[in-house]
Amino acid sequence: MKKRRKKSLAPMKIGILGCMAERLKTELLEREKLVDVLAGPDAYRDLPRLLTVADGGQQASNVLLSLEETYADIMPVHHTTHGNSAFVSIMRGCDNMCTYCIVPFTRGRERSRPISSILEEVRMLSDQGVKEVTLLGQNVNSYRDASEHQLCSSGATRLSEGFQTVYRRKEGGLRFSDLLDRVSRIDPDMRVRFTSPHPKDFPDEVIHLIAERGNICTQIHLPAQSGSSKVLKAMRRGYTREAYLDLVQNIRRIVPEVSLSSDFISGFCGETEEDHLQTLSLIREVGYNVGFLFAYSMRKKTQAYHRLEDDVPAEVKQRRLQGVYHSFQGEGNEGQRCSGGQQTARPGGGGEYRTHNTAS
Ligand code: SF4
Repeated sequence: MKKRRKKSLAPMKIGILGCMAERLKTELLEREKLVDVLAGPDAYRDLPRLLTVADGGQQASNVLLSLEETYADIMPVHHTTHGNSAFVSIMRGCDNMCTYCIVPFTRGRERSRPISSILEEVRMLSDQGVKEVTLLGQNVNSYRDASEHQLCSSGATRLSEGFQTVYRRKEGGLRFSDLLDRVSRIDPDMRVRFTSPHPKDFPDEVIHLIAERGNICTQIHLPAQSGSSKVLKAMRRGYTREAYLDLVQNIRRIVPEVSLSSDFISGFCGETEEDHLQTLSLIREVGYNVGFLFAYSMRKKTQAYHRLEDDVPAEVKQRRLQGVYHSFQGEGNEGQRCSGGQQTARPGGGGEYRTHNTAS
């Protein structure tokens, strides 16, 4: 299209924004030579300058990651097809370093948007008549706003029972339960959802809040990734199969009507048939309502790329992915194949199929 464009028209400019721009910068700029503007996820404020450089006929690129950028002072303009729901970004990046995941390298370290800025946006959405907000983040329930020092609690961050972090436990700051509490009080008629959480960040106070507050949706995404403790350790997820199942039990005890969804990766490095069978049994034991299923695909820069061997053949990954997919399909349930080695499974009886772009 760029080459075919009429000479009488202004030249076409192609810009790529976001974490893929960061990941593929060399290929996009040097090999393909098609891209005029490349902006990583922390460089959007630089877009006017980048566009000016591109207008001058040069390639413009900024893919630097920031330790602070949360875009807190930029109020987004919301466009939705129905106008009754909106996404609100509350934090960026991730410190977890799961061995298969590229996110910490393309989106940077974890940082949270100050609570006052989030509440202001949600109030504005409520005034506009929005009836549902989804709090968004790479690791949403790891939220920790340390900017309001006078309000900061002094204790260490509390985790789900039996879960660990790969980083030193964080101290102080307003936590996800504080945020959820305040957001849900803004408008009792506005439903509140959040995605994507990590199972480690569901201390009891978060679960009780979900149970008590009528407008917080009782649908929880609880990405397991595998049902085998051995594979979970290789993935560096910070929990065992048993701890995960205990958490599910705890959530169901406090929120009996909860619906659970999850992510699973088939064919991670070193996964055996026995590991795969443990994943199938975990899926049956929990009884999720939706699953986002992936065949493992190794990414450069990750710890798995440097330290582990991608030793499960592609056809075995696909067979196991099918097995996981079918284990979601209880009697009367349906599922749908998605492109690119990814599948989404859900129970039958209406609702939308969903695609997925994060894996916490
Ligand atoms: Fe972070 Fe989720 Fe990636 Fe793990 S899978 S490193 S929690 S974004």
